[in-house]
Amino acid sequence: MANSGVEIIEVSDGVFARLHEGLTNAGIIVGDEGVMIIDSLRVPSFARALIEDVRKITSKPIKYVIDTHSHWDHSWGNEEFPEATIIGHQNCRSEMLDIEAQNLWMNKIVTSNESWSEEAKTVTITPPEMTFNSKLSMYFGGRVIELRYLGRAHTSGDIFIFLPEDKLVFTGDVAQDSGVPFMMDGYMEDWVETGRLLSELPIDRFVSGHGPVGEHRALVEAKDFITELVTGTQECINNEQSEQESVELVLKKLDDHFGYWRGFDRVADSIAFTFQQILQKST
Ligand SMILES: [Zn+2]
Repeated sequence: MANSGVEIIEVSDGVFARLHEGLTNAGIIVGDEGVMIIDSLRVPSFARALIEDVRKITSKPIKYVIDTHSHWDHSWGNEEFPEATIIGHQNCRSEMLDIEAQNLWMNKIVTSNESWSEEAKTVTITPPEMTFNSKLSMYFGGRVIELRYLGRAHTSGDIFIFLPEDKLVFTGDVAQDSGVPFMMDGYMEDWVETGRLLSELPIDRFVSGHGPVGEHRALVEAKDFITELVTGTQECINNEQSEQESVELVLKKLDDHFGYWRGFDRVADSIAFTFQQILQKST
């Protein structure tokens, strides 16, 4: 449930990755006078379990919650942090205020028959109250924390929490270590460039929204995966291949390098989605 399968790793002095196997990760950064949380998780009970874990580390108040992006499993716990300032990208706020898009997710989740489906009905979607467009520098507990926006990718409002002195970045869902990201809300061509910029940050390790803590090499591989998927699909379109042919061709190419990744079984659908997105743009 909200706490099983959770592992907390101190990735740098006072910086913790709260990894949740098969579900969504969060970050905890302890400063001199308060705590910063990265992602509030999927429903209030998951947020409360996260708060319990913070209390095992420190009694300092939670001052900030950073939303890496608008997706429900990262941000629908926001309402459990009424005392904190919730920060996200301007587009993250817009997406969370988009009632149609949020209702689509809500319907999917409440009918999914998961242990959190019932609770999801009670969620009060709480968008960031402080937003920025390209970069926000926070001076927190003796370190600088840079919130960076590098362009659209997994959503229109993905941000990265970059800790230059720790050579560490929290990547949300834009990059995982050996895992296929969810692409169905993605901006696939933009993702290539955003992924490249992300992979050029001077870091040693990254904490993703899903899966284990990765090393820089895995961030480069995550960029290569999206690049190969998108450029491969583009090539097929240029060669006037059908959607079906494109999916088969690109899938086969990706399988050589990435076939063992978590979630590889959903790549075919993602290629079809990418195909349609590029096609619609070019016509
Ligand atoms: Zn996501």
